[in-house]
Amino acid sequence: MQNKLKRFFTSLMPVDSNRRGDCNRCGECCKLPYPCPFLRFDDEGLSRCAVYLARPPSCRKYPRVAAENLTPQTCGFYFVAPDRIGRRQAPTFEPVPNNVMSVEESG
Ligand code: SF4
Repeated sequence: MQNKLKRFFTSLMPVDSNRRGDCNRCGECCKLPYPCPFLRFDDEGLSRCAVYLARPPSCRKYPRVAAENLTPQTCGFYFVAPDRIGRRQAPTFEPVPNNVMSVEESG
C-alpha cells in the first residue's frame, strides 16, 4: 500500500528517459497491491484495462522509474544505466537477396 501511495504522488513527475521496452500486457502492475477492479483478461490471457482511456497517471506511467518497477520479472519495460546509452551494439541487417528489386528499379 505504501508503494501505491508513493506511485500516486510521484506519477505527476515525468517518466525516466532511460526507460526502454513496451508493455507486454502481463497485468502484474494492475495487481499492486491487490487486483484492480478494472483489470480484465482476454481469451489469450493478455490484460486490458476496462477504463483504459481514463486510467490514472500512476497506471499510465508505470514503471515511471527503475526504483518504482515492482514487477521486473514480467514487465516489458526496463531501464538502462545512463553510462550505457549510446554503447549498444549496432543492429545487424539481413542482406537483400539479389532477386528483390527496389521501387525505383521495378518501375
Ligand atoms: S507490469 Fe509492465 S508489462 Fe506488465 S502490464 Fe504492467 S506495464 Fe505492462
